[in-house]
Amino acid sequence: MIKDTIAAISTAVGEAAISVLRVSGPDALAIAGKVFRGRGAASALRPRFAHLGSVVDADESIIDHALLTLFRAPASYTGEDLIELHCHGGILVTQKVLGVLLHHGARQADAGEFTQRAFLNGKMDLTQAEAVMDLIHAHSTLAVRAANEQLEGAIGREAEAMRGDLIQVLAHIEAYIDFPDEDISPETGDALIARIDALLARGGRLLATSEHGRILRSGARTVICGQPNVGKSSLLNLLAGFERAIVSPVAGTTRDTIEEFIQVHGIPLRLVDTAGLRESGDAIEQSGIERTSREMERADLILEVVDVSKPRGAFVSADSQRRILVQNKSDLVRDSSWDGTPGFPISCANGAGLDELRSAIRDLVLHGGQFASAHPVAINARHKSCFERMTARLQAARAAMLEKMAPEFVALDLREAMQSLGEVIGVVDTEQVLDAIFAQFCIGK
Ligand code: GDP
Repeated sequence: MIKDTIAAISTAVGEAAISVLRVSGPDALAIAGKVFRGRGAASALRPRFAHLGSVVDADESIIDHALLTLFRAPASYTGEDLIELHCHGGILVTQKVLGVLLHHGARQADAGEFTQRAFLNGKMDLTQAEAVMDLIHAHSTLAVRAANEQLEGAIGREAEAMRGDLIQVLAHIEAYIDFPDEDISPETGDALIARIDALLARGGRLLATSEHGRILRSGARTVICGQPNVGKSSLLNLLAGFERAIVSPVAGTTRDTIEEFIQVHGIPLRLVDTAGLRESGDAIEQSGIERTSREMERADLILEVVDVSKPRGAFVSADSQRRILVQNKSDLVRDSSWDGTPGFPISCANGAGLDELRSAIRDLVLHGGQFASAHPVAINARHKSCFERMTARLQAARAAMLEKMAPEFVALDLREAMQSLGEVIGVVDTEQVLDAIFAQFCIGK
């Protein structure tokens, strides 16, 4: 049972037009009464209405003019009484507003604690809580779509439905445990195995999306390589310029490890080692090449750029499975040594061939590209581990049934499979699992 009231700045730190603070818990309303002085006659707070007023310090001096919205439990994000204050977005002003909320008894929220409360209060299942984080971190339109599908409950519903089926199979088996004189008839046995097979197939379909899930969440690790002056930087700029480039510096690191995301047909590409691309000079070029070859070993996608106006030389990358040969400078006269070499002719100078290259990238990264239209849902690494354990237990149960083992053994495996399915949506949670998940959130979410 949650007793305390939490508060946090929910918007990013920095100077902005507005900043949003949230307070959630049993004292949210009382704290609002202490810090907020509404304007006009309607000073009583009506749920779901925006109230204009002032946020005041303990000595009643005005800190900021703000909008307050009250959400009464259970009709709020967290399922608790929740207030949102929209203040002016100055760093100091926002801090002072948080300070007065804490002064009146709120506790500074931990990372992800609002969403954790939403989960604990039954507002969403665990997959939906994870989707909130996916949405915040999404770097491409397909990632946004997948996160929204998950937020709508697509994975949770499927896991819940499978769990429902599994409960019925288990109930059948347990009935035989209760009546030991009766054997499972062959027809019933076959029917139960068929239902287990159906569950295995559903699990298999979800498991098949895990690779897409990894790419949508983390981006496909992409290396752009090639000899100097072939057009690597030009290609990067062209791809990045086509759809918005997102640069997210990792805190506390040098520009070497800046992660740069671009999206190609909605797929996030995490460009590795672009710092090296943008530097010049022989020494840096050399260390850049060594770094690049290390990165190539781990890459999902290698874009090797070559200049077809020059005679063909050795390739930088030896891996043709993950490599796309970008035959740049197709606007110039093509050297005959390239005749018959497969690849994608493009011109960074005039954009020719770029659409075909983008499609080729999508097909290579998503292994065929049907993903984009058919099943935008993609499970994450945690779901994968749960579904894998479920699959193993279901296979064991199936084998036990085929071997006509005692129903107790079958039931044991089925119960473990159910446990794994429950973990997906969080019905059989362990505190550690929850803590690990919500620790990845930002404060105020
Ligand atoms: P990098 O060293 O591989 O990164 O190559 P850059 O992108 O810096 O390009 C090297 C030179 O080739 C620059 O002068 C570019 O303007 C030129 N270049 C790049 N792409 C093309 C292209 O498609 N056609 C032509 N004609 N020149 C290009």
